[in-house]
Amino acid sequence: MGERVKYELGEDRIPRVWYNIAADLPPPPPVLHPGTGKPIGPDDLAPLFPMALIAQEVSTEREIEIPDPVREIYRMWRPTPLYRARRLEQALGTPARIFYKYEGVSPAGSHKPNTAVAQAFYNKQEGVKKLTTETGAGQWGSSLAFAGGLFGLEVKVYMVRVSYNQKPYRRALMETYGATCVASPSNETNSGRAILAQDPNSPGSLGIAISEAVEVAAQSGDTKYSLGSVLNHVLLHQTVIGQEAIEQMEAADAYPDVVIGCAGGGSNFGGIAFPFLGKKLREKRDVRVIAVEPAACPSLTRGRYAFDFGDTGHLTPLVKMHTLGSTFIPPGFHAGGLRYHGMSALVSHCKELGLIEARAYHQNPCFEAGVLFARNEGIVPAPESNHAVKAAVDEAVKAREEGKATTILFNLSGHGHFDMQAYIDYLGGKLVDQDYDAKALEASLAQLPKVAAE
Ligand SMILES: *Cc1c(COP(=O)(O)O)cnc(C)c1O
Repeated sequence: MGERVKYELGEDRIPRVWYNIAADLPPPPPVLHPGTGKPIGPDDLAPLFPMALIAQEVSTEREIEIPDPVREIYRMWRPTPLYRARRLEQALGTPARIFYKYEGVSPAGSHKPNTAVAQAFYNKQEGVKKLTTETGAGQWGSSLAFAGGLFGLEVKVYMVRVSYNQKPYRRALMETYGATCVASPSNETNSGRAILAQDPNSPGSLGIAISEAVEVAAQSGDTKYSLGSVLNHVLLHQTVIGQEAIEQMEAADAYPDVVIGCAGGGSNFGGIAFPFLGKKLREKRDVRVIAVEPAACPSLTRGRYAFDFGDTGHLTPLVKMHTLGSTFIPPGFHAGGLRYHGMSALVSHCKELGLIEARAYHQNPCFEAGVLFARNEGIVPAPESNHAVKAAVDEAVKAREEGKATTILFNLSGHGHFDMQAYIDYLGGKLVDQDYDAKALEASLAQLPKVAAE
């Protein structure tokens, strides 16, 4: 029997720099001020983010040094292991080699602390006392709670109300790390009160929770806002994943033909894929790259590439990205981390340049793949990560049908230990594969802001 094989790196192999793919791409469209329609400058973002992160957001330097205190904290769980899934390969009867990078070994159980720690560090360095943020399923909120706690920052999390009610354990984790967590929409902000006036029972959404967190940060001198995905500096911090994977694949004497990641706002996908895309762009090392999204919230495969707001309350700048429209509310499904209307501008840019592919799956086939994975590899994936598992399984089956020894690498972005209700529902045959409402999508896209630059 082939057991899974582990490729570990010593702590001295934690990357010393983050890789900035912007250095190797033609410039993406500018970010626009929602009032003037003109490109924004650093000062426009200063109320929300520390200058160091704003500089990273617009940087075109290829390598950005990781500060020592951040690397020190990374040592708590990095380098993360790379595994070869021998049992899964055998279960599928495929000649393909399947490798996965496992980010679930972090304190919060996903890739998100890679950026939470960096963001907390730069905020602390610039004298910030308090961070506000949003969270859907609770993975980002617990990551920032953990990181903020390490640097002595107060953390306030606006948690989408349905999740707040359904996921008390994630909330307890945030509070254990020392953060405060309120259900969003809340009556603490104008954005929250406006939604509650329309619908006192609003289940909330990520777009609404972002509006609340941004509003509070913009109004207070010692408070800044922190976002767990989508932005360039977030994807930058996540590139430790792909850089380590390149070295571990070398140790396995392999290089991937296909690199796969699930994509909500695009951060773990960018994290694993960008260092490989960098090699493709600079060294012509060919590789196929696949972003996988939920069929119920398909921004890359069904959205429009257009300027849009990042939040429902329209407080953020306008970013050109694949979007379903900021008023789009996806139907309920279990991968809460993939329920966002937009996609990272850098990932969208790569899609437009033809550097990456995208595909969408319904949740039942993803859970089927996740259960097969758990039974062979022992790790229960997060519902979001199951989308990547499903794509890897499909690629391995295709390799079997074509008789090809394809080398597949995917990112296992997190474990599913806080998401067992989703598995209870799946195993009980209660998961429904809902399509998004095509009419609602049309209506949402019709409301996209009109931008002269297009
Ligand atoms: C948040 C999350 C995602 C989705 O976010 P990205 O920014 O697209 O990576 C995926 N997997 C897990 C485990 C998450 O916590």
